[in-house]
Amino acid sequence: MSFSMALRTVRHESPSPIGIAAKYLKALRRRDFVAGAALIDGRWHPGEQRDVVIDPATGEEIADVAHCGGADMNSAIAAAERSFVGWRELLPSTRGAILRAWASLISKHSDELAILVTSEQGKPIAEARHEIAYGAGFLDWFAAEGERAYGETIPSHKAGSLLHVRMHPVGVAAAITPWNFPVAMITRKAGAALAAGCPIIVKPAPETPLSALALARLAEEAGVPSGVFQVLVGDPLELSTPLLRDPRVRALSFTGSTQVGRVLLEGAAATVKKVSLELGGHAPFIVFDDVDLDKAVKGAMAAKFATSGQDCLAANRIYVQKGIYAEFVKAFSAAIVQLKVGHGLEAATDIGPMTKLSVANKCRMQIDDAVMKGARMSAVAHATKLSPNFVLPTLLSDVTEDMLIAQEETFGPVAAVLPFESEEEVVIRANANEMGLAGYVYTESLRRALRLSEQIECGMLGINTASFTGPPIPFGGWKQSGLGREGSRHGLAEYTEMKYVCFGDLKA
Ligand code: NAD
Repeated sequence: MSFSMALRTVRHESPSPIGIAAKYLKALRRRDFVAGAALIDGRWHPGEQRDVVIDPATGEEIADVAHCGGADMNSAIAAAERSFVGWRELLPSTRGAILRAWASLISKHSDELAILVTSEQGKPIAEARHEIAYGAGFLDWFAAEGERAYGETIPSHKAGSLLHVRMHPVGVAAAITPWNFPVAMITRKAGAALAAGCPIIVKPAPETPLSALALARLAEEAGVPSGVFQVLVGDPLELSTPLLRDPRVRALSFTGSTQVGRVLLEGAAATVKKVSLELGGHAPFIVFDDVDLDKAVKGAMAAKFATSGQDCLAANRIYVQKGIYAEFVKAFSAAIVQLKVGHGLEAATDIGPMTKLSVANKCRMQIDDAVMKGARMSAVAHATKLSPNFVLPTLLSDVTEDMLIAQEETFGPVAAVLPFESEEEVVIRANANEMGLAGYVYTESLRRALRLSEQIECGMLGINTASFTGPPIPFGGWKQSGLGREGSRHGLAEYTEMKYVCFGDLKA
């Protein structure tokens, strides 16, 4: 079937965005945000070699940053270890005050940080600003939660004994972070680690180093001591190998693909680290025919197209009940073709480029595969003068489970709609996937909502909402979507060890 078939399209023409990111970066008042130096042991390293940063919307080089190697990582681990005692011995309220100061500097520099995020990641500037606020929120929230890392007293099972459980910081932590949320995935990990009393070493994605290094500048300004928060950019394997092998690194937190998560879990086994993994998703988005159509379409637009689809919470399989299917596809198509595709620094843009070409190519492959196997292309938004990293927002309807898009995470602006008949059937189909990060259910029936909240196999479920993340919630997945939780008091626990103490022989 050809792509030139009759589609609903809207033509958006935009001026060529060549040079726009460089122009914005040049105008930043904070020149240190684009200096690209790594922060190791309280010193800024320009690096003997530099790695290039690309604007994914145009393919242009926009900056370069220090390339760190294994020896740099070993220095960072030693510095983190040295900083541990001093940091853990601060009162939680003192650590909290530093975290709050960091959050406040991030908020103060929100506009400049958003320009960095959009320039290197590609997301629309409004979404980048939202990410900065979301990211700062984790530091604020954990600043307070660190003061509530309560232990327990246990009614004793032994005469004359007192039983206590205390929470201790686990030690040096490492974070390997992705490019889709280059600020918030760092603050979600660092907020929890620092609040618990652990230093953290961050290895950001090579695609988005500027945001991470700018966060380090602000951490230093906020008073985070040397060695407590360090950022090193470079080859993922070269930098992760010392982190995995070194027994001084006691915790590893990773967000990214399930494939890399498995490799890191295996690597961390040698030194039995505490590992938390936030991996891929394949969220079912289930629409029953008792719903308000507009609400369901709005929810599907948000759950599919936020971050241009590069979101682990993205709706990957949109199941729509037969009674509302045709109407839903029509209304969803009409909304999709209105999406404005372009450079994220242009204010009107809804959908930016894929940060990585490999992700754009995966989207195209899933579209071709689905169309070849009988899916209908019901809508494609349109735009011109774009780099190969762009994928036009696309609606595939009549998708079936044998298609790649129904099995593998898409991570782009391609929506797959599948019809279903009954509740029993859709629950089985929704759960028939090795991922279990998030899910969405739209229904007006309270009984059905309660039943599905029990039955859907995932770590996070939105009932009649596509918006549920934030600092107080336990973010994480079931099955191969990961291990452990981020955010919430459970997120703090990823950076603590429990110690049970038995005070015996207390009788005078
Ligand atoms: P990735 O897993 O390769 O990258 C994530 C992070 O892991 C980056 O910092 C990267 O440098 C690092 N990394 C890569 N290989 C490594 C290795 N061998 N050792 C140590 N660190 C390593 O993800 P990707 O290839 O950039 O994206 C592929 C797919 O992963 C996406 O299409 C999407 O499905 C998924 N993904 C999920 C998330 C999420 O939020 N859960 C984020 C990014 C990507």
